[in-house]
Amino acid sequence: MRQPLVAGNWKLNGSLASTKELLAGIKAGLAEVVNAEVAVCPPYIFIPEAQAQLAGSSVAWGGQNLSAETSGAFTGEISASMLRDFGCKYVLVGHSERRTLYGEDSALVAKKFAAAKEAGLIPILCVGEALEERQQGITEDIVAGQLATVIDQSGITALDGAVIAYEPVWAIGTGMTATPEQAQAVHAYIRSQLAQHDNAIAGDMRILYGGSMKPENAVELLAQDDIDGGLIGGAALNAENFLSICKAAN
Ligand code: PEP
Repeated sequence: MRQPLVAGNWKLNGSLASTKELLAGIKAGLAEVVNAEVAVCPPYIFIPEAQAQLAGSSVAWGGQNLSAETSGAFTGEISASMLRDFGCKYVLVGHSERRTLYGEDSALVAKKFAAAKEAGLIPILCVGEALEERQQGITEDIVAGQLATVIDQSGITALDGAVIAYEPVWAIGTGMTATPEQAQAVHAYIRSQLAQHDNAIAGDMRILYGGSMKPENAVELLAQDDIDGGLIGGAALNAENFLSICKAAN
């Protein structure tokens, strides 16, 4: 039985004051969310605030990114062990904004995935196709390639306990959502790819959907057999909307 996970990706948003308010709002509405796991990924600098407010609650927190390196002359970077120092449980790896805006290729993403595992963080590995790739009918090839680089680098057992987020790039922050059928098809495909290596890991893998998930479409998406939760961007910035998705996953 896979426990649903709803994770909020706050991206580059908020102030210290709005972060305090959002954290308090999420905490206040948690009573009805007992079966789904909830996590938030604030900007790095607000992680200590998340830790202060969420420690002892059922909400986990994590980073939106990490360095592939462990220490040294890498100005501006944050390592996996630094995230662990602040109680992070999760870390996003290979979000499409990192891949497209910051040139992270699959090899670097695989290195980051390995660094996260090494430090005891749970990587949420983001995969997904661009619009033109979907239009060319190569969605499965793209997603399979993104998964394969990680499996080649770390081995299938490294995916044990990890999380995958299928995020069609054309649906992120655009208001365009994959239909439940489109999303389910790719989720089932991802699981089948994992099953080629290890049936148990495939069966246990939580595969989240991300891409303009909101209260209005969450119930239908989350009802699909292979959709085990959501990675939420825009809708995670409002406690009421985020909690409503958490309840849908519950
Ligand atoms: C995301 O950034 O991972 C995401 C899914 O964003 P949004 O929900 O805004 O599309």
